[in-house]
Amino acid sequence: MASVRRKVAYFYDAEIGNYHYGQGHPMKPHRVRMTHNLVVNYGLYREMEVFRPKPVSRDQMTRFHSDDYINFLRVINPDNMSEFLRHLQRFNVGEDCPVFDGLFEFCQLYTSGSIGGAVRLNKGQNDIVINWAGGLHHAKKSEASGFCYINDCVLAILELLKHHQRVLYIDIDIHHGDGVEEAFYTTNRVMTASFHKFGEYFPGTGDVQDVGAGEGKNYAINFPLHDGLDDDSFRSIFRPVIGKIMEVYQPGAVVLQCGADSLSGDRLGCFNLSLKGHADCVEYVKGFGIPTLVLGGGGYTLRNVPRCWTYETAVLLGVAVKDTLQYNDYFEYYGPDYRLHMPVSNMENANKPEYLDAVKVQLFNILKQVEPVPGVAIQTGSELATPADLAPPEQDEDKLDSAARQHDTEKKEHPAEYYPNAGGDTMDTKA
Ligand SMILES: [Zn+2]
Repeated sequence: MASVRRKVAYFYDAEIGNYHYGQGHPMKPHRVRMTHNLVVNYGLYREMEVFRPKPVSRDQMTRFHSDDYINFLRVINPDNMSEFLRHLQRFNVGEDCPVFDGLFEFCQLYTSGSIGGAVRLNKGQNDIVINWAGGLHHAKKSEASGFCYINDCVLAILELLKHHQRVLYIDIDIHHGDGVEEAFYTTNRVMTASFHKFGEYFPGTGDVQDVGAGEGKNYAINFPLHDGLDDDSFRSIFRPVIGKIMEVYQPGAVVLQCGADSLSGDRLGCFNLSLKGHADCVEYVKGFGIPTLVLGGGGYTLRNVPRCWTYETAVLLGVAVKDTLQYNDYFEYYGPDYRLHMPVSNMENANKPEYLDAVKVQLFNILKQVEPVPGVAIQTGSELATPADLAPPEQDEDKLDSAARQHDTEKKEHPAEYYPNAGGDTMDTKA
């Protein structure tokens, strides 16, 4: 595939790395700061527009989430937790999804990049937008789940639906993209496609037979996988399945969740992908030339997440990067090899070719039933917050309130500003 230059934007807020889920918690926002440091170190920021997201309002969050849940996230903090025991239980906040200082601002930061990115795609200002802080795909309408509080993927898709009749969501995190699937389970305006470990594994959903319901029937695609998935196996399923989806569904925009916990050696994962195997998905999706929002997600082996997302930033830019890492703020994490790429393990691949082929055939049969270009019928009665969010795409950009708001206040950063500060504080320098 010939490499075509695309206009790429990148959202990053230097504050993101200062938030802490708590001692011993596998989710470390610091990995986003480490990624940014490598992106800067490789000079990739010079090849794209770098933005600091403008914080989204509470109203933008309640397009999907319930008012009482968002209000709860705004007020809860480690000091007043004991007054909210019933709420903590009801909203599933406390253990996997702990209360920590600045929780709501953290949610705002990662969500703002995703919605801000969708707005730029809608306006045609960029072909690709990257927000590595986003991709928190497990959050539900009124419930935190799997380290996720606000579902920025869902909110970004809702923004894209203002301009696009059909949006495709692709999820290569090792966990099923359950929150996004659930949100759009009964609409044909969003197709969700998730490739994930299935069977005695969080969150437990994502069977191949779960295909959507009502108008959304056949618009949820799930590829359940076993331990040890390697590059060749993944490529042998991802390309044909996504290729077929592109052919039958013809989305106007794509959201690609690039959870890095599907990499070999992840602290919570059990796949065996290299950076190249993971990034092959990014390369392939990019090749379709459709406006694409690229998000992060899971990723719990701290030294590998920045490797993955930096390499994928380079792939999206069509820029070659050296394997040898130059000295950077977090150099000690990357020893003993100090290379960008990382070895895979010799673990057994429990995904036999016959199994992969059988699932592929099943999914092709589901996709055969997909209308090439679904009609413009407005979906209602789904998990979606308001019917207005699912109105047909706006023709006149200027009428979009949120786009206008964003336009005035979004601040383009001089990337060099970040450089001295990217690792300037002392928090969490060792995992
Ligand atoms: Zn995950």
